[in-house]
Amino acid sequence: MLGVSGADVTQLDGEELIVDGYYGQVYRSPSPSLRQEFLTLIREEQEFDRELEALCDMPAKTIDDHTISLCVNAGLSRDIGNALSVGAEGVGLYRTEVPFMTKDRFPSEEEQRLIYRRLLHTFWPRPVVMRTLDIGGDKVLPYFQIKEDNPFLGWRGMRVTLDHPEILLVQLRAMMQASVGLDNLSIMFPMITTVAEVEEAMRLLKQAHEETLAEGFKIQPPKIGVMIEVPSAVYQAQILAKKVDFLSVGSNDLIQYLLAVDRNNSRVANLYDSLHPAVLRTLMQVVAGAHREGKKIGLCGEMSGDPAAVILLLAMGFDALSMNPNRLPRMKWVIRQFTIKRARQLLNEVLEMDDSVEIRGHMELALEEAGMGGLIRAGRW
Ligand code: PEP
Ligand code: MG
Repeated sequence: MLGVSGADVTQLDGEELIVDGYYGQVYRSPSPSLRQEFLTLIREEQEFDRELEALCDMPAKTIDDHTISLCVNAGLSRDIGNALSVGAEGVGLYRTEVPFMTKDRFPSEEEQRLIYRRLLHTFWPRPVVMRTLDIGGDKVLPYFQIKEDNPFLGWRGMRVTLDHPEILLVQLRAMMQASVGLDNLSIMFPMITTVAEVEEAMRLLKQAHEETLAEGFKIQPPKIGVMIEVPSAVYQAQILAKKVDFLSVGSNDLIQYLLAVDRNNSRVANLYDSLHPAVLRTLMQVVAGAHREGKKIGLCGEMSGDPAAVILLLAMGFDALSMNPNRLPRMKWVIRQFTIKRARQLLNEVLEMDDSVEIRGHMELALEEAGMGGLIRAGRW
């Protein structure tokens, strides 16, 4: 159970439980009336999901014609089927470490090429953004152990692959070989903290591209992106944007580094807050940096599946949001019910507030008033 520490789950053996994920509550051995109430709410949610299927082929466009692109995060193969059924415009984040985690050694270039090819082919002609291997921190490979006292501030993401260019080059070549004839590949670098890291990664990418061409593969150079996941990258967003084709905010990490809250530590989970005023101002700064260079900017953390946050991200000017496939229909519905004018008004209002509880309350009230209370609690209404 997430965020529950010290609970003896064996004591719950055989008991009926209701988990209300909206309020973060668990009911043990519920009374028949409570049970009935939740069954009704579940039925309403299922009906709502079926209604939302009608939006599958419609754009994520506000009433006053402001469009944002909605993509999915993928890693496991089941994400891929789900992504297509919810009408995603592409894959905004493919976590390449997932197939690495299910092996007992580094997958070979050919093994990787086949995995990437399947994904690119399935989504073609839609774009697929593949992130280079992002290990370290909480993501460990059983055959490449990293022991550190402070792993989130240690050897993770791009730091590992720049120290092991042989791993990165194999991966980049496999991605490019996989894109032959499809050309819907973009590549993104995680955990960037300096411009020099991007320059070195681009140098290796150029090398991999030249090697791939020399082997006879005919491929266009892929679009390149940088993830904005640490505060230093926020302050250098514009110069980073100048070096690449697009930026993508990894809000899961950015929030943890900005607020100094471990994203996986339940003891401080109440401090991990995507609507913290500092987070909102940070995101606005990144959008401004990317747009000053005329580059696109997306966000691919969990925040993009939170209806209260989505309205604010829309207002800030994000060009794309990438999320868990099962969140996409609801987020598209929210966007289609709002005007960009109202979203900007709400953003201006919350920027006057200095407390995230107040901000969330304000956004939830706005959702209620727009007839979308069903997005913030179980059931349809
Ligand atoms: C993020 O940090 O927001 C992100 C999308 O990457 P991950 O969750 O895989 O670290
Ligand atoms: Mg991350």
